[in-house]
Amino acid sequence: MGRPLLNRRLDGLGTTIFAEMSALAAATGSINLGQGFPDTDGPDAVRELAVEALRGGYNQYAPGPGYPDLRQAIAEHRRRFYGQTFDPDTEVLVTTGATEAIAAALLALVEPGDEVVALEPFYDSYAACIAMAGGVRVGVPLRPPAFGLDVDALRAAITPRTRVLMINTPHNPTGAVLTRAELTAVAELAVAHDLLVITDEVYEHLVFEGEHIPLATLPGMRERTVTISSAGKTFSFTGWKIGWVCASPELVAAVRTTKQFLTYVSGGPFQPAVAAALRLPDAYFAEFTADMRTKRDILAAGLEAAGLTVYRPRGTYFVTTDITPLGFDDGLDFCRRLPELCGVVAVPEKVFFDDTEESQKIGRPLVRFAFCKRESVLTEAAERLATLR
Ligand SMILES: *Cc1c(COP(=O)(O)O)cnc(C)c1O
Repeated sequence: MGRPLLNRRLDGLGTTIFAEMSALAAATGSINLGQGFPDTDGPDAVRELAVEALRGGYNQYAPGPGYPDLRQAIAEHRRRFYGQTFDPDTEVLVTTGATEAIAAALLALVEPGDEVVALEPFYDSYAACIAMAGGVRVGVPLRPPAFGLDVDALRAAITPRTRVLMINTPHNPTGAVLTRAELTAVAELAVAHDLLVITDEVYEHLVFEGEHIPLATLPGMRERTVTISSAGKTFSFTGWKIGWVCASPELVAAVRTTKQFLTYVSGGPFQPAVAAALRLPDAYFAEFTADMRTKRDILAAGLEAAGLTVYRPRGTYFVTTDITPLGFDDGLDFCRRLPELCGVVAVPEKVFFDDTEESQKIGRPLVRFAFCKRESVLTEAAERLATLR
């Protein structure tokens, strides 16, 4: 065995930062604001439906594209919230979380050597999946304080080898929510260069200011966009790993081709429960957003009181901070020391940036804290962080 075991495409993609930081949280008994999962479950009635489904009728392979009623509920949800029409039979595909949707879409659409332009910092699975597909990642950095889209930088990143634009709004980790003007610029570039677009909209119901605009609703985008959602994020059942893709029949067929050889299907008993969740009244979604906005405000205030520079997010589960005012300059070093300093775990954002000097300079002082936790936990975290001063 003269050569490394891990194939060279995956060089540099060791363990995720979440594994390191969550292990650190467990070992030190710290409050884990690193990984983005809620510490309370979604609606009881939805959970009970999954229990019922487990008792009978849903314990074998689900149909390849997902149960028809769930696909119907997904289409109804798109129409209710965004006025979009998708045919549940040909334009909707249920996946193993948004994670599999991202992998299946990239593996289906990217040829070796194709360039995939993505917003930087990246959600960590993008880099891995682009690499597995043999693609070349090209980052377009979002910069503090506003983390707005630099349209000129996006235009400059597009070359004749560009195949896919990978968009994420609301954006993890920065909390940016792309505006209509920014999305229009993305759409115009995608149309002008005849690009495919994968848009990760798992935080579609977590926008605190402004509104979520699905990219596929913009002119010229419906036929070239793969839209990805997640029941984990929208209904606080991240362990169920139910996600979905909405796109044209041709794009769904392409994504289904790779998806069927990744997991084939998964999560059968959770699918009827997610269908019911998607049909919850508007009040559920409004309360969910309002509740998470309150949590954001608690954590943001705590981080400000602790002396960090806080970039108030307009969406997602996360607050991005700059640690420089506390006398630190490297987020990774800061996050490794934070448990011993005050019993809190966060994640450094520089690991979500490219290795280039320019990208690392932006990412180095940035640290992400998750606020999808009980208010008592956030208050306790804020008290601990206050001791940093
Ligand atoms: C959590 C997350 C995902 C993964 O969603 P799952 O449904 O848990 O697979 C994808 N993209 C972003 C930006 C996320 O934050």
